[in-house]
Amino acid sequence: MTIQEFDISTADVYPLTDSRQVLSPTQTGSAKPVFFAIQGEHHDGHRFITELYAKNVRQFVVETAALTPELRHELAKLPDARIWEVGSSLRTLQDLAARHRSRFAIPVVGITGSNGKTIVKEWLAQVLAPDFLIQKSPKSYNSQLGVPLSVWPMNEKHTLGIFEAGISKPAEMQALQSIIQPTIGIFTNIGPAHDEGFRSCKQKVAEKLRLFRNADTLIYRKSYSEIDEEIHLLLTAVNPAIRLIGWSTDQSAELSVLFTPQARGAQIGVRWEGRDCTVWVPFSDSASLENATHVLLATLVLGVTDETILRDRFARLRPVSMRLELKEGIHRNLLIDDTYNNDLAGLSIALDFLNQQDASRQKVLVLSDLLETGMKPDELYPAIARMVTEKGVRQLVGVGPEIGHYQSVFTVPTHLYSTTDALLQSGYLNELTDSVILVKGARRFSFESVVNRFVQKSHRTVLEINLDALTHNLNFYRNKVGSQTKIMVMVKAFAYGSGSAEVASLLQYHRVDYLAVAYADEGVGLRQNGIKLPIMVMNPAPESFRQLIDFQLEPEIFSFRILEEWSRFLKEENAPVSGEKPDVTFPPIHIKLDTGMHRLGFLPVEIPLLGQLLKAHPELRVASVFSHLAGSDEAEHTPFSQEQYRQFIAGATELEQLVGYRPLRHLLNSAGIVRLPEFKLDMVRLGIGLYGVEVSKLEPQQVQAVGTLKTVISQIKELKSGETVGYSRRGVLTHDARIATLAIGYADGYDRRLGNGVGQVWVNGVLCPTVGSICMDMTMIDVTQAAAREGDEVILFGQPVSIADLAGRIGTIPYEILTGVSERVKRVFFRE
Ligand SMILES: *Cc1c(COP(=O)(O)O)cnc(C)c1O
Repeated sequence: MTIQEFDISTADVYPLTDSRQVLSPTQTGSAKPVFFAIQGEHHDGHRFITELYAKNVRQFVVETAALTPELRHELAKLPDARIWEVGSSLRTLQDLAARHRSRFAIPVVGITGSNGKTIVKEWLAQVLAPDFLIQKSPKSYNSQLGVPLSVWPMNEKHTLGIFEAGISKPAEMQALQSIIQPTIGIFTNIGPAHDEGFRSCKQKVAEKLRLFRNADTLIYRKSYSEIDEEIHLLLTAVNPAIRLIGWSTDQSAELSVLFTPQARGAQIGVRWEGRDCTVWVPFSDSASLENATHVLLATLVLGVTDETILRDRFARLRPVSMRLELKEGIHRNLLIDDTYNNDLAGLSIALDFLNQQDASRQKVLVLSDLLETGMKPDELYPAIARMVTEKGVRQLVGVGPEIGHYQSVFTVPTHLYSTTDALLQSGYLNELTDSVILVKGARRFSFESVVNRFVQKSHRTVLEINLDALTHNLNFYRNKVGSQTKIMVMVKAFAYGSGSAEVASLLQYHRVDYLAVAYADEGVGLRQNGIKLPIMVMNPAPESFRQLIDFQLEPEIFSFRILEEWSRFLKEENAPVSGEKPDVTFPPIHIKLDTGMHRLGFLPVEIPLLGQLLKAHPELRVASVFSHLAGSDEAEHTPFSQEQYRQFIAGATELEQLVGYRPLRHLLNSAGIVRLPEFKLDMVRLGIGLYGVEVSKLEPQQVQAVGTLKTVISQIKELKSGETVGYSRRGVLTHDARIATLAIGYADGYDRRLGNGVGQVWVNGVLCPTVGSICMDMTMIDVTQAAAREGDEVILFGQPVSIADLAGRIGTIPYEILTGVSERVKRVFFRE
């Protein structure tokens, strides 16, 4: 099928690419969803067509290669479904977005480069919002999928588009160019960061420049010589008429820019069309000044040149935070704190995040007037009302003069307040319990005070968990094992210290196959937090059998004793109690074989008897047979691992013959997945790698740090050489020093062995050693080299202090560092 045959107007439909998201960001009115089924490594969108049909989606774009005879049969059974069959759904989506874009002759800013794309886009939109109706990429939607989704909602009312384009492989920019069709380009910068896909920096620059092949104007920083050279070599050859605005802070460029540091900010001065134009921005770091300069030049190019206006708007630039933070609140509430600026696309993303949390909790949205949407309130609030209903929100709390007028459009129970203070004084917030509460407000409504009302006071030591890094790591291991092998994720020990319920919710959202915990009560906790995935319990005790059944948790059976106890328990369960027949389903079991770890499990000689017993008790349904490698992280143990594999296959085969069916087989842990991928079998058990430590050390660059342990400086002292710091006077100063006391100690999980300079922490870009012994709740460090002040943030581990390094310094393993962070340290989960 060609695009011409796609006989539908893009304005009448909106694209859906993830079956879990049922509303597009900014479509309003009568537009209908079209689901683009995309077949990827792990997710095959085609599997969700019938599910979406049940949710009233009627239009589908499907890929020929994915259409098995069964699927064709299924599709044929869907009355009034409209189905387009194509080679690539993604390609079709891109082509349609490109065709849509071609209809509009408005200025469009296209932004690419290594860093700063999103900030430049957001700031430009902040500065230009009073003059234009802007369609822009939500968050950092800059990929092959994100760009078409960003461009699609453009309509005839928009007067400006601002889109970012990001690439990771050669040949990706062409598609993005045809979709964005920028008239004004911004090339932010080029970093040394090595991208897998590119041979050289030159090649990367050349590929990025393709975005501007038809642009009228390109803004870039001339001091990046790689960019400047390739522009003159390549771009001007294909686009000779382009107006190049290359700026620099030295006098070399045709456009010189002057940065003048000032209190709490800096001035940016540029000479534009014969006039000096100077603005002040509330930042002084070099990255922010570079970003702000790009924004200033683009603003001038777009004809907003009045200096008074510019000064006013640049002085009001604010840091762009795209974090969605998930925190535990009082009264068993969970809180999602969205500080992202306030538009409809951002709301849609935040609502998806809300929707993906624990299904058993009531979902509450606290929302202020939306100020930056460019939509008329008459269209905006009905659109919000539809989203709110579809994303399962149960209560809406609206704050602001505007939303107050639209009570009638909301179908969920709605409480309206004219100001944030009125909400706080109403007492309404105190009544919420066991809910997930999304707090999303425009800056002027100061919703910090709403957030503070919910979040328990902490001693400001937090473990931040990066949910995007977790997802990245999951995908890395998924790609390693391929789509034919299932993934069980180990969430034992509070998900390696990261927070079980929140991590498990994310894993459920990403559809992993199994979870595993060490003890039954951990599994019960997950069930009580709405986790529906199958859960294996590795160390079930008879006292917990009742819970296993009530919460459908699947025990690991590792000895005849536990087999016998479980079997007896089931028999008693099943016995009719005073005439009534209990109606229970027994969870299946998992058989552990000991192939050399010598911890838990049946030895090879025990398998014949085990097989007989299982055969005699068909109610003991075996879901899987597995074993555990003793040394998969180290090359020297590979021969032993191979022997374990051989024994495991022999044992599993023997057992399968005896019971007469074939349960899942699994052997590999995280290190095994990387080192011994040939043993992946039916399932793997992913643990520490998900949490950001690649313990085989073969592909350490491929996983991202997940946890960052942070605290603050409580006090700073200037001390003289010869003085001592801390208990037993261990910290003897050999120089005059500035010593800072941190609000963290060994009771929080900062190991006592890290004292006396063994550990180093990160303060304002400088590694600072510990001084003296670590105390229970406090730690002293030497900040002589860091420009540190009281209240400053300190990173104990995470980027850039690696957990593996920390573990190495005190002769332990990353597992102990991760799981050692005490539960009194608050976990904060965030997504970019
Ligand atoms: C903890 C555990 C794993 C996961 O190990 P990692 O090294 O963290 O990947 C796998 N299998 C069993 C039986 C475990 O106890």
